[in-house]
Amino acid sequence: MAIFAKRLAQLGTENAFRLGADITRCVDRGMDVVRLHLGEPDFDSAPHINEAAIEAIRAGQTHYCDPAGLPAFRDVIAEYVSRTRGLAVHRDRVVVTPGGKPSIGYALQAYVDPGDEVIYPSPGFPIYESWVTYVGAQPVPLPVLEDDGFAVTAENLARVITDRTKLIILNSPANPTGRVLTKTELSALADVIRTRTGPDVRVYSDEIYEHILFDGGVHHSIASEPGMEARTIIASGHSKGFAMTGWRLGYSVLPSVEEAAAFKQLNVNVVSCVPPFVQLAGREALTNPESATGVANMVSAFEARRDWLVAALNDIPGLRCLSPQGAFYVFPNVESACASLGILDTWDRLPSARRRAVSPSGLLQHFLLQRHGVATMDRNSFGSMGAGGQHYLRLSLATSLELLREGVERIKRGVQDPDGCQQFLTGALTQ
Ligand code: PLP
Repeated sequence: MAIFAKRLAQLGTENAFRLGADITRCVDRGMDVVRLHLGEPDFDSAPHINEAAIEAIRAGQTHYCDPAGLPAFRDVIAEYVSRTRGLAVHRDRVVVTPGGKPSIGYALQAYVDPGDEVIYPSPGFPIYESWVTYVGAQPVPLPVLEDDGFAVTAENLARVITDRTKLIILNSPANPTGRVLTKTELSALADVIRTRTGPDVRVYSDEIYEHILFDGGVHHSIASEPGMEARTIIASGHSKGFAMTGWRLGYSVLPSVEEAAAFKQLNVNVVSCVPPFVQLAGREALTNPESATGVANMVSAFEARRDWLVAALNDIPGLRCLSPQGAFYVFPNVESACASLGILDTWDRLPSARRRAVSPSGLLQHFLLQRHGVATMDRNSFGSMGAGGQHYLRLSLATSLELLREGVERIKRGVQDPDGCQQFLTGALTQ
C-alpha cells in the first residue's frame, strides 16, 4: 500500500518557493545571490494599515468570525468592486479568503468535475495548472504568445473552447508577462464566451494585480462586459497592490449568493475564517485615502525600474524583452542566448525522461543562479503544458534599481560565458 493518495502526484507547486531552497544552498556555499525571482513587492504595508490591525487586536478582534468575512469588510469590498467595475455587488456575493490563492482551488473544487475541461493561460500563474490536474480535470492551456504582445486573444480562446469546457481562467494584469488586457480585448473575449459557451460555464478572472498599472493605465474586468457579471468570479486581494503578501488577505465576488455560499463552505472546511484583525486592516486599506498615495509611489517606482530594466535587457545580445503594462514582472525571450550558450543543443541530446524534467530555459535559470549568482524563473515555472519550444525567463521588478543593475550585469556575464555554461551543464547533467 502506498503512503500517499494517487491524486497527490497530480499536485504541482510554485517554483518561487522551491527556488528558495536552491538559493539557500548557494548562499551556504558562500555565494551572494541577487534575487530577481520574487513575486512580492519590496515595500512594506503602510503604517495606517498596520495601525488598524494593531488597534483591532487591542480591541479583542482576535476570535473566530463570519467564515464569509466580516460584514463590515465585505460591504467595503462590494462598494469598491461595484464602483471600479460599474456593477451593483452586494456583500452577500463576497467571500474573504486568506490571500488570492485559495479561491483558485475553491473554484476548481466548486465548479469542475473530473474530465471537465479547464482553460487557463500558458504561461500563467502555476497554481492554475496545479489545481486543474489535482482535481482530475482536463488541462487546456490557452496560448499566450509573444507574437500577440502576450495578449490572450479572442481567436486563441475560440480555438480551445469545446462543449466540455467548464471553467475559463483569465488573468490581467498578468503574471508572468505583465500584459494588461484592454477593454476592447476583453470585450472580444466576452463575445467568444457568450456565443460559444452555455450559462453554466464560469470565468475565473484573477485581477490580483489590478492596482499595479503603468503609463496611466486603467484596470478593466471582463465582469463589466454585457452579460458577463452572471458568469464571472472576480478574484482579487491585498497582497500585491497594498504590499500585504504576508497578511494573507484576498476576496472573491461570486456571480450568485448560492455560489458565494459554496465558497464560504469551503472556507469553513479549510480555514474557518480569515483573522478579523487582518480583515479590519484590509478595510482600512480600501477606505483610507492615504492608501492611494502609497500605491501610487510603489507603482511609480516599479514603472521607473521597468523602463530601465527593459532597455538594459534589450541591450544584451541574445535577449529580447517586451515592455509590460502592469504587475511587476518582465518576461524576456532568451532563445538565442540558449542557442549561443549551447543549451539548446545539449538539451536536444538529453534522454527524453531528462528532457521532460528540465527545459532549456530551466537549464539557463540554474546556470545563472549557480554560476553567476542571479535568481530568475524559467518559462516552465508558469505551467509546463504548452511550454514546448518556448524559452523565457521571468524577472521581478520588486527589487531596488541598484540590485536590478547588479542582476543584469550578472545575466550579461552569464550569457557571454559559453565555456562556463558547458562546464556547468556537463556537471549538472551527469549527476
Ligand atoms: N494570482 C496571481 C496571478 C498571482 O501572481 C498570485 C501571487 O503570486 C496570486 C494569485 C496569489 O496571491 P496571494 O499571495 O494573495 O495568495
